[in-house]
Amino acid sequence: MQFHSTRSGEEIDLIGAIMQGLASDGGLFVPDALPRFKPDEVSGETLPEIAAEVLVPFFAETPLADSVADICNSALNFPLPLRPVPGAESDLSVLELFHGPTAAFKDVGARFLAATMERALPHVSADARPLTILVATSGDTGGAVAAAFHRREGIRVAVLYPRGQVSARQEKQLTCWGDNVRAYEIDGTFDDCQAMVKESFADATCRERLRLSAANSINLGRLLPQMAYHVAASIWHWRQHGTAAGFIVPTGNLGNGLACMWAQAMGFPIREIVLAVNANRTIPDFLATGDWQPRRSQVTLASAMDVGNPSNMERLRDLIPDFDALRAAIRAFPVEDEQIRQQIAKDYGRYGEVWCPHTATGFWTFDHLSPEARTLPWVVCATAHPAKFESIVEPIIQREVDVPPALEALLTKPTHKIQLPADFSAFRAGLLEWS
Ligand SMILES: *Cc1c(COP(=O)(O)O)cnc(C)c1O
Repeated sequence: MQFHSTRSGEEIDLIGAIMQGLASDGGLFVPDALPRFKPDEVSGETLPEIAAEVLVPFFAETPLADSVADICNSALNFPLPLRPVPGAESDLSVLELFHGPTAAFKDVGARFLAATMERALPHVSADARPLTILVATSGDTGGAVAAAFHRREGIRVAVLYPRGQVSARQEKQLTCWGDNVRAYEIDGTFDDCQAMVKESFADATCRERLRLSAANSINLGRLLPQMAYHVAASIWHWRQHGTAAGFIVPTGNLGNGLACMWAQAMGFPIREIVLAVNANRTIPDFLATGDWQPRRSQVTLASAMDVGNPSNMERLRDLIPDFDALRAAIRAFPVEDEQIRQQIAKDYGRYGEVWCPHTATGFWTFDHLSPEARTLPWVVCATAHPAKFESIVEPIIQREVDVPPALEALLTKPTHKIQLPADFSAFRAGLLEWS
């Protein structure tokens, strides 16, 4: 299968797209044509089995064509259950995406990317130097990437995060690794961290002496496995109930939402897709007016969705170029912080379920569909475990949230971090002496 850039049409295969990340024209890679399936053509039962069947065409004619099942088995090796919401009045299910090592759905993409990159490395060049992956993070992404690449052969990771601006548990997830993972605590903002990563890529000495790469969220290697879990959930629901469920997807940069659109476009039984966003309303405003107005991001309780300029819109426009068709294909509901708080309290009260603030935007959206729409079958994606956001959730439900065992295991590990000012030269010196 070939992929092209959303901008110039630059063509590449999947391994190239994954190793390169961003197209050289600044665009995003998308498949030339999505394969089409009938749901009963898929025979697998578990997520890794279904993912392998669905992703085989994407890897066709690459050196990893025969490794797809192995990649899926090793990367998607944690539970990802679709379960009915107890006490709901209709066919309402929750797709729990947060049982990976860092308790958010980003583990799915990061682990798949790491498994693919590790296997691709020997095929892409004879360069024996380790690949150095740089990640600036405001919280969730860095932890998932660090966890996923920890102890991978031939790859090392430098994560930069702003001092005092990530939660205690998030910091633990960034700093508990050691070995091939370095955590840099920067005395500055997230934007400073991101600028230092960009400067590294632009620095001639760094480029010459190091083999640099990025693992940002627009990488196809993260989107494809997310598409696969939407496919799997739609098939599980269809096999069990004989109906196509609608999907409600909390989204920020539109990664999770676009992955669901691709799953639907491939022919899987997804009746409709509704996006839930927070107070960053760029997407719903666009669908209402046709006017694309990216803006600065606004801080909300659902912080991993604080995106004012969702980059995957470029991929969605490539999938459905006509605005009216796009508007017919997708809806988006903005959810304010106060509504997030109320939804967490409400669903704890009536279902006994505790949502993270991101997941709560999805359940708020369900509650605000029309009464007729609510009688149809729905799946709401739960994107993180509430224990990751305990400082928000616990005061609302007035009890402690149980910490899942995978997260607990990380919280008790020792911390390794390097503290630096927000100054590129110090970071550069550290990178260059890393051997
Ligand atoms: C990253 C993240 C999101 C948003 O994901 P997109 O890829 O931007 O759609 C939602 N919830 C959680 C918990 C996240 O970490």
